[in-house]
Amino acid sequence: MSDELPILIAGGGIGGLAAAVALARKGLPSLVLEKASKLGEIGAGIQLGPNAFHVFDQLGIGERAREMAVFIDSLLLMDAIADGEICRVPLGEDFRARFGNPYAVIHRGDLYGVFLRACEDSPLVGLRTSAEVMEYDQDGGSVTAILSGGERVRGRALIGADGLWSNLRAQVVGDGAPRVSGHTTYRSVIPTEMMPENLRWNAATLWAGPKCHIVHYPLSGWKVFNLVVTYHNDAPEPVTGKPVSNEEVLQGFTHVCERAQSIIRHGRGWKLWVLCDRNPVSRWQDGRVALLGDAAHPMLQYAAQGACMAMEDGMVLAEAIAARSGAIEAGLADYVAARVIRTARMQLQSREIGDHIYHPAGAHAELRNAIMRAKSPIEWFDALEWLYGGANNGAGENLHFQRAAVAAE
Ligand SMILES: Cc1cc2nc3c(=O)[nH]c(=O)nc-3n(C[C@H](O)[C@H](O)[C@H](O)COP(=O)(O)OP(=O)(O)OC[C@H]3O[C@@H](n4cnc5c(N)ncnc54)[C@H](O)[C@@H]3O)c2cc1C
Repeated sequence: MSDELPILIAGGGIGGLAAAVALARKGLPSLVLEKASKLGEIGAGIQLGPNAFHVFDQLGIGERAREMAVFIDSLLLMDAIADGEICRVPLGEDFRARFGNPYAVIHRGDLYGVFLRACEDSPLVGLRTSAEVMEYDQDGGSVTAILSGGERVRGRALIGADGLWSNLRAQVVGDGAPRVSGHTTYRSVIPTEMMPENLRWNAATLWAGPKCHIVHYPLSGWKVFNLVVTYHNDAPEPVTGKPVSNEEVLQGFTHVCERAQSIIRHGRGWKLWVLCDRNPVSRWQDGRVALLGDAAHPMLQYAAQGACMAMEDGMVLAEAIAARSGAIEAGLADYVAARVIRTARMQLQSREIGDHIYHPAGAHAELRNAIMRAKSPIEWFDALEWLYGGANNGAGENLHFQRAAVAAE
C-alpha cells in the first residue's frame, strides 16, 4: 500500500526540512534525501518577516526560533551617494500589532538548527545524507526516486525541495537553466567589534546606490554583523560561494560615499555569488511529484522572502495533503493552487525592487527618494499587508495566502 510509504523530500535545505516538520505535525511520515554528505546551511544571515513567524508558530517551533533571533527596530533605507537617510519602516509595537508577529534577523545556521532539531525529535522524519535524487518514475500507486548511485527509493509522493538547480524541476517543468540576473552578491560575517561603531545600528540597513547596494544587520545576540553587498555588473555566468578579496569587492563601489565604502573595507572572508532567478510558472506538479521552495519559485533576494516562501510552502503542503486524507495527487494540486500566485508575485516584485529601489541612478533615484520619503508608517504597513498579514489567526488555515495575494491592491 502506497499510503504506508513515506513522503520523499529531495533536498534538506530550509524548505525541505520545513516540509518534513510540517508533515510530521499532521502525522505524515517523510524521508529527506539530501545530496550533501552533511546537513547544514551557509554561515550568513537571513531576514524573517512576520509571515515566517506565523509558520514557526503553526509548526510548534516559534519559541525556539525567537530565542535565536535579533529583533531589529526598523528597516532603514540610506542613500549611498548622499550618505543620508531616505526613510525607515518602524518595526516596533505598531508593526507587531498590525501583523501579529515581529520582523527579525537570524543566523542561517541557527534557523536551520531549529528545523533540524524538530526533525530529529520526530519519529516521523527520516534524514539521509549523500543521497542525490537524479530523477523519478511513477505508476498510479507510488513514486520512485532514483539516486545518483542507481538506488531506487519508493514513496507515497516526492517533493522536489532541491533548490535553484533542481533535478526534479528539470523533469516536472523542463524549462532549462535558471536566468542569470547579472547581479553579483558578496557576503561576509564579521565580529561586532570590527563593525564601524557609527554603523552598529539595530536595523536591517540598506544603502542604495547606482547599480549597487549594501545591506548590514546584527546577528547571533549582537555577536556578529552580517554584510551583503551587491553590484549589478552584468556578470554572465552563475557562481556560488567563490572566495574573493576586499579589493575585488570594493571595485564596484568606488562611486559610493566614504561611510558606505568603509563597510566593505571592514569585511573579512568575502564570498561571491552571481544571482539567478526564474520567471514564474504554474506547473509545479506531475502526478505524485511536486516542487517546493527555490526549486519551484527561485527569486532574487531583494524582498528577503525566498526562505520565508519556502517555509510557507512546507506548511501549506502538509495542510493540503492532510486535508485530502489519502488522495495524494489532489492534495498536491490544492497545494500548488494555493501557492502559485503568491510566489509569482514575490518573484516578479523582487526584480522590481532591485530595479526601482535598490539600484536606480539620477532622476530615477530622486523619484525613489521622493516616493519613499512621503510614505507614513501606516502606508508602509498597508503596502505590506498582502505579504505579512492575514496568516496569524491561529487556526492553521492555509488558503488565505492565496486569497491575500489576489485581494491585494
Ligand atoms: C544573498 C542571499 C540573501 C538571501 N536573503 C534572504 C532573506 O533575508 N530572507 C529569506 O527569506 N530568503 C533569503 N534568501 C533566499 C533563501 O536563501 C532561499 O530562498 C532558500 O534558502 C531556499 O531554500 P530551499 O530549501 O528551497 O533551497 P536550498 O536552500 O537551495 O536547499 C536545497 C537543498 O537541496 C540539496 N539538493 C540539491 N540538489 C539535490 C538533489 N538532486 N537531491 C537531493 N538533494 C539535493 C542541496 O544540497 C540543499 O541542501 C537569500 C538568498 C541569497 C542568495
